[in-house]
Amino acid sequence: MIRRGSDTLLFDCGEGAQQQMMRARTGFTVDAVFITHWHADHFLGVFGLVQTLSFMGRTGALTLYGPPGVHEFAGMVRQLSRATVRFPIESVEMHGGSVVQFGGYAVHAFAASHGIQSLGFVLAEEGRHGRFDREKAVALGVKPGPLFGRLQRGEAVKVTRDGEEVVVRPEEVMGPRRPGRRICYTGDTRPVEDRIADLAGGADLLIHDATFDDRDRERAEEVYHSTAGEAGAAAAALGVKTLALVHISPRYTSTAGHLDDAMRQFHGEVIAPADLTMLEILYRD
Ligand SMILES: [Zn+2]
Ligand SMILES: [Zn+2]
Repeated sequence: MIRRGSDTLLFDCGEGAQQQMMRARTGFTVDAVFITHWHADHFLGVFGLVQTLSFMGRTGALTLYGPPGVHEFAGMVRQLSRATVRFPIESVEMHGGSVVQFGGYAVHAFAASHGIQSLGFVLAEEGRHGRFDREKAVALGVKPGPLFGRLQRGEAVKVTRDGEEVVVRPEEVMGPRRPGRRICYTGDTRPVEDRIADLAGGADLLIHDATFDDRDRERAEEVYHSTAGEAGAAAAALGVKTLALVHISPRYTSTAGHLDDAMRQFHGEVIAPADLTMLEILYRD
């Protein structure tokens, strides 16, 4: 689940998702569900979720985004929940390169590598304008007030300086544009960092498939998953800030091996978050 402002988006919805939402006390204001691929551990939770949303009195449409097959899936959800669900369930098919625009940010899809058609997603905020240099503006003859706002919105303004009318341009008083935050969720996949450098390079958080540890590398290749070391190498290549290792196979009784494998490849922050872990992604400046 990613929360940004008043929006709540789910990325995959495994069995029991709505019980986990109850435990985490997130509430049930889900705005959209993005599904990476049609393996049951990534979509089974949708059925329970729509029941719960309906029970909570939802009337607004819920949109399911996913790779080809999403319209059929939404049809099944509608069919199986028709007796109880009172809100529309919509579907939007996505492919590598698809973009869904929200207010102030977008969700981009990329093609993952999982043996079946599978997507990863990058949530990317729009850049923010640079810092306004108030002292410099005053020194250039701009009086505090509405002119400040116009400069901040990128407009040039006229002022009188030493009895002469001069133009102050926004680039004289605004710092460089600051990047927005970005989160990349790979879904289930072999490493694909070379194809997502533009989209995910420098991301604040990379949530990467780390089903296996490095001792099971061959197995990872066979079943189109990644090892923790491969996730670490992807994080290093992309220059992300934090790497979260997820989808760790229940065969491992501890995540220590995964963390070691990833940290050998990547020197940024590495976590193997337990269920219900909450992270706050802060602006970097
Ligand atoms: Zn899968
Ligand atoms: Zn899976």
